[in-house]
Amino acid sequence: GHPLRLSVQVHPYAGNRRMLLTRDITALEQAETMRRDFVANVSHEIRTPLTVLAGFIETLQNLPLDAEERARYLRLMGQQSQRMEMLVNDLLTLSKLEGSAAPPSNQWTRVRSLLAQCEDEARGLSGRLAPQGHKLSFSVDADSEISGASTELQSAMSNLLSNAIRYTPGGGEITVTWKLLPDGRGEYAVRDSGPGIAAEHIPRLTERFYRVDRSRSRETGGTGLGLAIVKHIAQRHGAELRIESTPGQGSRFALLFSLSRVRAARAVAA
Ligand code: ADP
Repeated sequence: GHPLRLSVQVHPYAGNRRMLLTRDITALEQAETMRRDFVANVSHEIRTPLTVLAGFIETLQNLPLDAEERARYLRLMGQQSQRMEMLVNDLLTLSKLEGSAAPPSNQWTRVRSLLAQCEDEARGLSGRLAPQGHKLSFSVDADSEISGASTELQSAMSNLLSNAIRYTPGGGEITVTWKLLPDGRGEYAVRDSGPGIAAEHIPRLTERFYRVDRSRSRETGGTGLGLAIVKHIAQRHGAELRIESTPGQGSRFALLFSLSRVRAARAVAA
């Protein structure tokens, strides 16, 4: 019985080691594949506006254009270079987020002031994208503060709101709310009356460069990185990003902040 017992003891152990090793290699290979995909995507995203720009330059050089046509081409060229600038800015934001220390837990920002800034940006964007604008409403149901990196919090909240504006046709309704939930968590939510998103896309929306409709996203000036940035910021702050949507009825994007990140706003001294 002795040799048998030995082999029984050794086998599961060896088996486990092999399994661990296999898992490590798979994770490494996955990371490498993701890195390669990312570089390929970035290259593609940069090449597209570059190709368009090169085409316009050639046209300007070779065609006799009147002043009005020239101005039109220059405007289009400006849009393409702006697109590249936005892309590079978002890439830098992502890489900074990846490399920077955990956000502070003792720096508090008032939700009201975050929302006020969101509102300013939203009204500007809405006016630029749709002549009749959107029906925007903002409400703070409990005067609260959130702890963390305030510029990151601002950027995550603004990103969700600017998506709602960009994907909702002019005249549509967008509701922004802050609430304390019964369990003490804080919820920032953006609800829109836009086109909505089919269920199969929802789990993939936070992937870099994942878009439901490529052309629509381009048209409205999207880089395809917005929700990846939001997800990153949420994770760093221990917040949960929740997406609910019904095609044809609009979407709701919410950030849920844990109890430890939320407190009632201090009363302002009289
Ligand atoms: P993009 O720059 O393309 O907007 P995002 O990462 O911000 O990139 O969003 C990814 C995709 O999610 C978008 O391309 C769009 O298809 C979809 N999406 C995001 N927000 C909304 C929304 N409020 N309504 C409908 N679709 C949305």
